[in-house]
Parts: sequence; C-alpha cells; structure tokens
Amino acid sequence: MPLGINFQMCDVLEAVRIISRSVLDSRSFPTVKTRITAVTINEKRSLSVVAEVPSGASTGTHEAYELRDGGTDFSGKGVSIAVTNVNTEIATLLQNNLDLTSPDLFDAKMNALDGTVNKSRLGANAILSASIALHRLYAEVNNLPLYVYLRKKYFPHLGDNYKFPQLMSNIINGGAHADSGIDIQEFMIVANTGDINDDVQITSEMYNLLKAKLKFDGYSTSLGDEGGFAPHLKNNEESLSIILSLINNSKYKNKFNIALDCAASEYYGLENDRYNLDGKLLSREELCDYYIYLIDKYNITSIEDPFHEDDYDGWRMLMSKVGDRVKIVGDDLFVTNIERLKLLGVEKKLGNMILIKPNQIGTVSETIDAIKLAQANQIGTIISHRSGETCDTFIADLAIASNSEFIKLGAPARGERVAKYNRLLEIWDELNDKIYVKDG
Ligand code: PGA
Ligand code: ZN
Repeated sequence: MPLGINFQMCDVLEAVRIISRSVLDSRSFPTVKTRITAVTINEKRSLSVVAEVPSGASTGTHEAYELRDGGTDFSGKGVSIAVTNVNTEIATLLQNNLDLTSPDLFDAKMNALDGTVNKSRLGANAILSASIALHRLYAEVNNLPLYVYLRKKYFPHLGDNYKFPQLMSNIINGGAHADSGIDIQEFMIVANTGDINDDVQITSEMYNLLKAKLKFDGYSTSLGDEGGFAPHLKNNEESLSIILSLINNSKYKNKFNIALDCAASEYYGLENDRYNLDGKLLSREELCDYYIYLIDKYNITSIEDPFHEDDYDGWRMLMSKVGDRVKIVGDDLFVTNIERLKLLGVEKKLGNMILIKPNQIGTVSETIDAIKLAQANQIGTIISHRSGETCDTFIADLAIASNSEFIKLGAPARGERVAKYNRLLEIWDELNDKIYVKDG
C-alpha cells in the first residue's frame, strides 16, 4: 500500500469496532479507555489501537467538560455514562462514517453530535478517547508511527525536520498535587543539553540526588501526584533554594533551567481579591514583585499560571515587566482553546507560551488547531500531561510531530510518567535508525 494519508477507510478496512470501558488512572480514579479494532481488506492485517485519557486536579474553569457519574460509587468520579456514550452514540457515528478520509472530520462529527460548546453532553473524556484512538488507527492503516502520521497530516510544512522538546520535569510537588503544604504547585527542572538521551539521564540523576538530599536533611521522600517529592518545607522559596543549590553543586551546573507552575487560581481568593501565599495575603502588585524577586534570585526561565485565569491585570503586569526575558505560560488561562488563545494571547498578549493539554479541549484536531495558531503567532508551545495520568503516550508523539519546544511530563518516576520519557527515547531511536521508513 502506498504511503500517504488520503486513503478511503471503507476501501481498506472491515470489521471496524469501537469499544470503551472504565479503567483506573494514577490517582485511582476511573477514566475512559477506548479500543478500536479493524481488519485491512487488502493485506488482512488485524489492527487494534487504544487510547486512555488523563484527568486534572487543578483544572481551569474554561476547560471542556469531563463527564463523571456523580453519586457515591468511586466518590462520584465514575465514568460509566461517558463509556456508554462511546459504546452507543459514538460507535453508531463511526459505523455510519467509515468512508471518512481523515480523523479530523470525525472529530467535527463528534462535536456536532455532542451539540454543546464544552462537550458536556457526551463528555470530553468520551470524545477524546475516540479521537486519539482513531488517529492511532489512521497511523496504523498507513503503516506509520503516530508522530509521523500526525506530522504528515497536520504539520507538513515542517517536513522531515524532527526536533525533540526540552523536558519540564516536576521534581517538587505542591498545591493541589500534594499535602506538602507548599502553595506553588510545580517546581520543575528543565535539562538543556540539546540531546534527549543526555537530558533524560541527567534529569534522572538529579531526581535521585534530590531524594538523597531530602533524606539526609530529614525530610520525607514521599511523592506527590506527578511523581515529584512532597516534603513539608518552610515555604515556597525553600524549594527553589534546595533545587538551585543541588544543581550548582552537581556536575551539571548550567545544564538545567528552573521553571514554576504556580497554578495561582488555587491560592487566589475571590472574596478579598488577594493571593494567599506562604500564609500572607498579597495584592497582585505584591505577588508580581515577589515573582520577579524569585525569577532573579533563582534564574527562573519559565513561570506558568502566575495569576488567576481571569486576573488579566496581573498577567499584563508580569508580561510588561519580564515578558521579554521569561516565558509566561498560560494553562488555565488559555485551556488549549483557540478562541481564548486568539483573544488573550494573540490580541491581549497576556502570555508568551501556551500549555497544550488535549483533554482541555477534547479532540486531537482542535488541540492541533491551538498549536498551529500559537506557532503562527510566535507563541511557544508546551505539550503537557495531567496530574491524573495513564500509561498512554500520545503526548510524546504529539510533541515530536509539532516540533514543540517543551514537554511537561512530571518527574522521571512512576510508570505513568516514565512511559512518556521512554516513548521519547524510543522515537529518538526510530528517527536515528529510520526504521519507520517504508518504501510502499
Ligand atoms: P492538573 O495540573 O493536571 O492537575 O491540571 C497540571 C497543570 O496545572 O499543569
Ligand atoms: Zn498548570
């Protein structure tokens, strides 16, 4: 079969079946797992692809709707309605559209079937599971690794020039991801050797050095939701001080940058319009000054969600003061939504980077629309996991396909996090041996 993405699905596939079920995520909450099976008519190849969707804890209020059952089972977090939606309505839709030539058309059909602006009827978790699985199926039918398929379909202008993203590795967890008592959610190291193999190695070494240091200093080495440590430190600054001194005293001085995800909506109080950080109530001006103090003292190169998602004045203030030298990343601000990115990023310039989370918007093609809009407007992209994860590695392929500058994937520990690190290494091997190349 010739390579290329313009095949007619009805010509090459038969016995197409989609089936979904509830499985557990890394926090032991249910999530949706969807499998599509099919047989290619010409080659009689049996295909079987799966997708499992992640789930956030510090979610933005403007995200697509994650459908949960409510009630008492699984503390209300069951996904049986979302699973049923895949097995009934989405399955019927697929059976009626087997002649579609590309999966983004099916994404649009699922959105139309859902009929709401935020996918609240079928559930963004149901829709995304089908969307990812279908993209994997198209890659399989075309005999292409997923990242190559996504590149050819959505980023043909990038050609065969694959760039690896820098790793944003969350090694101290706070906020909604840990009971460490630290307000800032993520303290990340960002290896900058320019080689993915070296980046993974030194990140892993630094992770274990941090573990030894915390143990030596009498702190707990228990883990937060993203695999980073969750020690009960005095305050937010102590985390930075430990990390910076660890880097500077290691043989990898200058090989790491430091990044924060503040997830500031979690410590903002609407009732008093103040940010409650380290037990102090700060105005947005005071918080902005505090961030600049931390940025300068600890060489922070990237800061995500520094203010509440609707606190445009705060975002504008920080951008005007340090936006020329620091990455100001919108996660809850943009929620991978092109309308919000257009208004708040391109027009109002409240941030200069966007965090990309497929389940914030609910389909692969809309996720890619957000990446492309950002890239066309010189807004950098960070492909990201969620705090509740599975071993699905879709985001690693997406980061490579889109030449995104960064990927946020938690600590280099815990299976659901290392699955993504390891997928990047596997892709590096494939690209260097070119073992995916087939000549038709
Ligand atoms: P979440 O956290 O998955 O809990 O939203 C990740 C993030 O805020 O980047
Ligand atoms: Zn975030």
